[in-house]
Order: sequence, then structure tokens, then C-alpha cells
Amino acid sequence: MKRLTDSVTVLAGVGPKRAESLATLGIETIEDLVTYYPFRYDDIQEKALDEILDQEKVVLKGVVIGEPIVSYYGYRKNRLSFKLMLEHAVVSVSFFNQPYLKSKVIANEEMAIYGKWDAKRKTLMGMKIIASKEAGQDFSPIYHVNKSVRQNTLVDLIKVAFEEYGDLIEEWLPAGLINKYQLMLRPEAARQMHFPDSIQQSQGARRRLIFEEFFEFQMRLQQLRHQERELGDGQEILYDVKQLKAFTDSLPFELTDAQKRVTNEICRDMRSHKHMLRLLQGDVGSGKTVVAAIVLYAAVTAGFQGALMVPTEILAEQHLESLFGLFAKTDVTVKLLTGSTKAKERREILADLAAGKVDIIVGTHALIQKDVDFHNLGLVITDEQHRFGVNQRKVLREKGSNPDVLFMTATPIPRTLAITAYGEMDVSVIDELPAGRIPIETRWIKPAQLDVVLEWLQKELAKGHQAYVICPLIEESETLDVKNATEIYEKLARYYGPTYNVGLLHGKLSAAEKDEMMTEFKENRCQLLVSTTVIEVGVNVPNATAMLIMDAERFGLAQLHQLRGRVGRGAHASHCILVSEPKNDMGKQRMKIMTETNDGFVLSQKDLEMRGPGEVFGSRQSGLPQFLIGDLISDFPIMEVARQEVASLWELDKWWELPENQEMKDYLLGDQQTNAWFD
Ligand code: ADP
Ligand code: MG
Repeated sequence: MKRLTDSVTVLAGVGPKRAESLATLGIETIEDLVTYYPFRYDDIQEKALDEILDQEKVVLKGVVIGEPIVSYYGYRKNRLSFKLMLEHAVVSVSFFNQPYLKSKVIANEEMAIYGKWDAKRKTLMGMKIIASKEAGQDFSPIYHVNKSVRQNTLVDLIKVAFEEYGDLIEEWLPAGLINKYQLMLRPEAARQMHFPDSIQQSQGARRRLIFEEFFEFQMRLQQLRHQERELGDGQEILYDVKQLKAFTDSLPFELTDAQKRVTNEICRDMRSHKHMLRLLQGDVGSGKTVVAAIVLYAAVTAGFQGALMVPTEILAEQHLESLFGLFAKTDVTVKLLTGSTKAKERREILADLAAGKVDIIVGTHALIQKDVDFHNLGLVITDEQHRFGVNQRKVLREKGSNPDVLFMTATPIPRTLAITAYGEMDVSVIDELPAGRIPIETRWIKPAQLDVVLEWLQKELAKGHQAYVICPLIEESETLDVKNATEIYEKLARYYGPTYNVGLLHGKLSAAEKDEMMTEFKENRCQLLVSTTVIEVGVNVPNATAMLIMDAERFGLAQLHQLRGRVGRGAHASHCILVSEPKNDMGKQRMKIMTETNDGFVLSQKDLEMRGPGEVFGSRQSGLPQFLIGDLISDFPIMEVARQEVASLWELDKWWELPENQEMKDYLLGDQQTNAWFD
């Protein structure tokens, strides 16, 4: 029997090798394939040749003249070329390294090709052959692909999968909702996404699928809330006020009013029997770590253990160091647990954790391994919470007797959004920076002025300061990121060496190597650190006063802001230089805004106002959940509707027993994790 869960290898032409390539896109089953939706549609408007700009993506339609030729050159490289006669001209078409397309190019037949126009050579660099059915349309779906899977291949496979399995796609939303919101039915929506009859149809399909995606998200989110409520009350963490006050008094600085306020909010939650689920937002440098330390300390004075979980080992070590400093005059025991903790040490730490001999544990995902047991975990804090999935949070929570949970994030999320996206979590905001900070001065320069900047940077280094050079982000290719960073590193090492040591940090280094590099930089054995964005979160080296961001237009505003937050952490004036030549006005405007404000909330607001679809916070730095089709910002009204609908469902007595909800129940049950709902 055919099932949507069948492996893609059931399709003709998909062997183990192709299956492996498809898996790199997350496509393993037929269902994955038919729901692998295009992320946009390109206009297939035929333009007169002289209207097409160099490098513009267009579709050209014409008749193939003569036979196509495949020529081989270099190592495993080849080019398929042929001539296409348009209405008033003949152009060349080239496809690189796709020799198998030759059989699709037939002399004297009409075809439409999507590609990039090379005006000088009068050649279309082919990216996709548009099938004859599509050729009648005036837009074409574009899919996210990578080196091992091409647009053409994907389109062909999706087509075959639809022919053979299309009938198995089923509706699962209750009819009441479909009618109320005039939603396209699921099978039709899937088809219209891939093979739209019109742009309106594809929009209708998208709307339906976004609703579905958001609805499912809300379902799982609110289900968690219900489960949580059923888990009952949290711990009453009766901390010692006197000790806590002595601790805050011992800090080398006075807390800002905002820090005091949020600390009180968190402490109040901890003290009450209510189970805390709170989001702590604060711009980079606003002093969240100190707040975390205070409330962890509070938990310890009440006899509980605390855990601080962060996304990377570098951050874990840095937090450990900060906590060591802050707790120096106390008898709090802090330990570190990461993936690279040695086996023997790990065993000891685990034993001490279980016996209650460790008060506070700092770590990465290593903290949520099966064999980690706590004596009495009372408070869990996660830094940059978006890196942890809902399930991981759940696992960690289950390790204690329902410990209080605090999520810290530097991403400024508008409050209404936060509520919808995180399911009525309480929110605390640190909305002021510690006094006396010298604002970072940001400048935007063109790559042509780089020499001047390098000279200036030399003077900065001569003052004994350190600097970061951040390398461009190359979408979806870590390998290219690394190549680029290495080139920049070599250039700067030649320029500044041997007077100054230049270091290189990127994602392909092992955790130990990254660590070693960071330590060198922290200890000022290395003055200039060339890095990819692995540096972005939380790194704290106050002696670093300058940051150069190369090809800055490639980063989202929020991410630029995060990166910039690595400087301006000490007593000296700091500078951030954006090296960028944006191609369009939006890019220019973004650079300009960066030079005008240091306020993360203002920036994220601007980002919202200016952004094109899918561009918001810059996907990687976003504190928001990521969706396949929907966009939390631009599709926010749909999320709000989904939230309300799901909420009213949970208000019913056992909605899953009602006949009209059976398909939905079955659909959601397909995922084992939700089994527990229906007890
Ligand atoms: P965040 O985690 O919010 O980015 P941190 O907690 O790392 O910020 O704080 C940034 C720097 O500011 C640290 O060096 C910290 O010691 C310092 N700091 C925090 N709070 C204050 C304060 N109230 N006054 C002065 N300095 C502070
Ligand atoms: Mg509590």
C-alpha cells in the first residue's frame, strides 16, 4: 500500500545516492517532498532583450536551433550549450554541469528557460527549464536547493510524487474552521503551491498552509501549557532576603533601576508557588548576566540547585568565568558541563550534581543528556532561548521537580509578538543600559576606503586595544564562510604581522580549537580576531574597542546590532565600521540606520518597517520560532487567529473526543510526542 511516509527511494530515478542528496534538504519521505514548497515565484515576463539588465534573472522563450552540445573541460566540469531563436534575435543558452538536461533540449521545439542574463556574451546562464505546461504560465516556483540537488531535479521529482501520491494528501482541519475562514482544502493547496493555476490561487494556497502551520504550532504550544498546568504548582523558592541583599551589595556596581525591577519580578515568581515561565529581554550589554547570577544565588540560598544553559561552549565558559567572579566571596559551588568535559570529570560532576554538592551548573546541551540527574533543581535559565527547542526545554524541566524557568534573550521582540509566539509567557524587560557607557560610534564606509580604515585600525591597536573583523555571511554555505574568512585573515596577518597577532575563528574549528582561540584573544595574546558569525552571541572582551564588519549588507539589522554589541563593553570609546556597498536603496538605508541608532528596539522596529518578506530579524539571529511557510511578522494576523481558535478548542471539555475533531486528532497523533495529550 502506498503511504505518504514511504521513502523517496520508491520513486523511479531515486537511488541511494539521490536519496542522500535529497536528505540534505530534509527530504526523506514522499510527504517531505510534496510539502517542500517553493519560497517564491519568479515572474516569467518576457522582456525585450535590450530591456534586460546584465545579471538579471529572466525567462526566455524560443525555438531551439540545431543540436545541443555538451563540452567537457577541467576536472569534472562541463557545459551544455545551444541556441535559442527568440522573436527577433538568437541567443546562446548554457547550463553548467547538468549534461543530463541534453535530452530535454530538442531541435526545432519551443522551450522556456529561466536563468541569469549575461548581457556581454548575449548568453542566458540557464538555471531551470520550464516545462511546457508551466511555459503557458507567467510565473514559476523557485525552491531552496543546494549544490547536490538542482531546481530541475526537484521540480521533476515533485511532479512524479504528485502524480503517484497526490491523492493521499488529506484534510485534517475541522470543517468548521475551513468554512469560517474560507480556507483552501489541503490537497488542493499543496498542488497550487507547486503548480499554481494563477498567482491568486498560489496566494490562497499559501494562506491556507500558513494557517495550518500556525494552528499546529499553537496547538502544541497550548498543549504544553495545559500539561504544565496539570503538572501543578512549581516550587516555592524561599530565598534568604538578607543574604541576597548582601550579595547585591557586594557587586562592583550599583544595579540599574531596570535590573532591580526585573530582579524583583523574577524573585516574586520564584517565591510564589506559581510555576515561573518568564522571558527576560534586554539589549546587548544591558546586564542580563548579572541578573541571572542574582536569581541563581537566590535559589541557592533557598537550598535549591540552579542551571544555566547556553548555546555554545565558548559562551558556557564565559558565563562560568563571570559567575566565578561574581560568586568569589560566597561559598557557592559552580561547575561546567559541556560536550568536551572529560569522561572522568564528567562522572564526578554528575555524581556531585545528584548528591547536591554542586549548587550551580553551567553548560550546553550536555545538561539535558539522559544521565544527568539533579538533587533538587529549582531554577533553570536559558540564554538565547531560541536555540533550544520546546522539547529540550521540556526535558530539562522534567529533571527537577518542575523547576522555575527563565529565558533570556537579547532579541527585542515586541510584546504582543512575544505573547503569541511563546504562549502567554510572562515578560520582563531591561530597558536601560548601565550608566557611564560610552556609546559605540558606528560608521559606514565603501570597500574602496578600506585602506584608510586599516591604517586607522593600526593606531587603535597601537593604543593597546583589540579589534574584531567580522567576515561576510554567505547564505547556507559554511564552507564558503570559512574560505572567505581565511582569505581575509591571511590578508590582515600580512598587513599587521608580526607586530600584532591576528587570529582566526570559524565554525569548522573544533570546540577545543575555538576555545583556544577565544582564550588567546581574551588574554590579549592575539590582538585582532578575524571571525565568522560564530562570535555573535554574548562574547565579552572589554579591551576590544573596534569592530570591522565586512560586506555588512549581508547581515540583518538585528544581527549587525548583536555583532556590534561585542564592543563598547569597557571604559574606552568604541567603534564599529560597516564596510559595505549595498546594491539597492533598502541596503543603503539599513547601513544608514545602523550609524544613527544604538537602540535595539528602534532597530528591530525599523527592520519591521523596511524589510522584504522573509528578511526580518535575519533568520539566524531571530529570537522567534522559525516557520516553513508563514512569517511571524508579516503573517501575524493569521497567527493571532490561530491562537484564538486553538484557545477556544482547549476550553471545550476534551475536544479530542468530539467527532468533528477526529481527523485533527489523528493528524496530530502522527507525531508520537503528542500521545500524552489524550489520556
Ligand atoms: P548582557 O548579558 O545583557 O549582554 P552583561 O550581563 O554581559 O550584559 O553585562 C555587560 C557588562 O556590563 C558586563 O561587563 C557587566 O559586568 C557590566 N554591568 C552589568 N550591570 C551593570 C551595572 N548595573 N553597572 C555597571 N556595569 C554593569
Ligand atoms: Mg516559584
